[in-house]
Amino acid sequence: MTSIKIQPEHPRAESLRIREKLIEHYKEGVVASAGLIAHGRGEAFDYLLGEKTTKHALNAIKAAAAILLTAEKAVISVNGNTAALVAEEVVRLANVVKAKIEVNLFYRSLERELAIKELLEKAGAYEVLGIGEDASAKIPELGSERRRVDPRGILVADVVLVPLEDGDRTEALVKMGKKVIAIDLNPLSRTARKATITIVDNVVRAMPKLVEIAEKLKKQDVKKCNEILLNFDTKKNLAESITLIKEKLSKLAEKGKCLTLEDEKHEL
Ligand code: ATP
Repeated sequence: MTSIKIQPEHPRAESLRIREKLIEHYKEGVVASAGLIAHGRGEAFDYLLGEKTTKHALNAIKAAAAILLTAEKAVISVNGNTAALVAEEVVRLANVVKAKIEVNLFYRSLERELAIKELLEKAGAYEVLGIGEDASAKIPELGSERRRVDPRGILVADVVLVPLEDGDRTEALVKMGKKVIAIDLNPLSRTARKATITIVDNVVRAMPKLVEIAEKLKKQDVKKCNEILLNFDTKKNLAESITLIKEKLSKLAEKGKCLTLEDEKHEL
């Protein structure tokens, strides 16, 4: 699918591959132009996090799996970037935790909704909510197109997974009494701070891990999920991610070495 040749030995090969994937899906009408910019903001934070799933992110992923498995009506909300990057994982997770899949876009058009639906169906989804007139209900207090939801999905959900969300909608969903799980590389964003559980990680790493952990947890007693949730503190977890970035930067600047994150992988 990639239009340029990416050398596997390039130090930023993976990051370039993800960019190409988004550009391809932008051309196909799945990703909005603003989605490309939003990805850039995410990349900057990924760089600061060392481009790996931290132990704090892993703890948040476990809590997310537990809350999804104990939900009555879970919904995975999908936008263009999420569909472009992790359509298969969305479908796998929906099957494992018995969640519905709903398309919800900031830049809504029927063409984009249908393009995303098609991508999800290609990945194995048998039902995709929130398309066209199906998104007939409204989230109170929201001005953007993201307020339109499906009455069979997000409107009645108790738990909503919102990979790559905006702060307004996260806040509105929480105000409606829903538990919101966000995946956001920026621990400072409003989304990260408003969500019930925030996974500070790249969606391309977090989603496969979430599927894997949910599959394992599903085989255990429900008590295990409750225990995980009881011991998880969202604010503390978020603070740990911010501290980790601070410590990483301090190390890099230590003793005037002025290392890069690439150096850090080898030297520190
Ligand atoms: P908020 O409204 O929550 O303050 P924002 O204005 O930054 O946040 P957007 O521009 O709508 O929100 O969304 C971009 C967010 O998505 C950024 O916080 C960015 O860190 C995050 N993001 C982008 N790409 C990824 C990715 N691949 N994985 C995880 N997070 C990502």
